[in-house]
Amino acid sequence: MGVVDGLAVIDELRFAADFSTICHTHAADAAWQQILAVTAEALRQVLQRHPAVTSIGIGFPGFIDPLRGTVAQSPNLPGLHDADLAGDLARLLQRPVVVENDALAAAYGEYRLHADSISDLIYMGLGTGVGGGLIVNHQPFAGQNGYAMEIGHIIVETDGRPCGCGNRGCMEQYASASGVSLTYQSLTGKQLDAASIARSAEQGDGDAMRAFDLAARALAQTLAHILKVVDVRTVVIGGGMSHAWPVMETVFMQRLERDLIPVLRGKIDVSVSSSGDHAGIIGAALLSVR
Ligand SMILES: [Zn+2]
Repeated sequence: MGVVDGLAVIDELRFAADFSTICHTHAADAAWQQILAVTAEALRQVLQRHPAVTSIGIGFPGFIDPLRGTVAQSPNLPGLHDADLAGDLARLLQRPVVVENDALAAAYGEYRLHADSISDLIYMGLGTGVGGGLIVNHQPFAGQNGYAMEIGHIIVETDGRPCGCGNRGCMEQYASASGVSLTYQSLTGKQLDAASIARSAEQGDGDAMRAFDLAARALAQTLAHILKVVDVRTVVIGGGMSHAWPVMETVFMQRLERDLIPVLRGKIDVSVSSSGDHAGIIGAALLSVR
């Protein structure tokens, strides 16, 4: 959590909470009450240190209804349906709360940090899943229902791996941190997290490199599809797994160039976020005061 003034994060507090495990081990209602309690308590600590805070913006993973501030569904947090995150937190904290999809918040933060040079931007967040955010003509584009740019759920493998969204073969089942772990496990029988697999890939482990190559191809293929639809030049990669970008970049760029229409080749500026978590924090905060 960060406290934002203008475009600066003036304080940052880190809290550890494993919402995924809570959702996998509790009934839906109990899981939601626990997520709310943990989040509200952390926010209370921030507000105690910064009583002048006027509004709260939250970037949350999942399909967010931006008008109601509800979590309609979250593929990596099973059981949550129409959870009233903004309403419940606003009641608990007595402050206005705005909830947006985490990747859209990060996209907006990246845009605002570079607003002097760009008007349009695609953000791809590589984490437990793969999120996407789109800025068009200086505005965040959430779609009419709020579910635009759910790029992790673009199907790259017909009848492929089952996904938390209910479909099969979604891109994030191959290109996210959990996707890389699944690929590595299918190749070696070993269960490792993506960060460990990235270290093995850097040391030349063939299976680890294959897992990241598959991730890079799935991600590049998806981005090529998206660019044919929205024709945006600036693409920012963020999220926890973006640390592994050096082991993905070559295969990613080769696949992207090959899958783009020829007139777009060489025109796409792909970079890794230099602001880390701050883009999402700044974006969520600024969206709460728009
Ligand atoms: Zn999916």
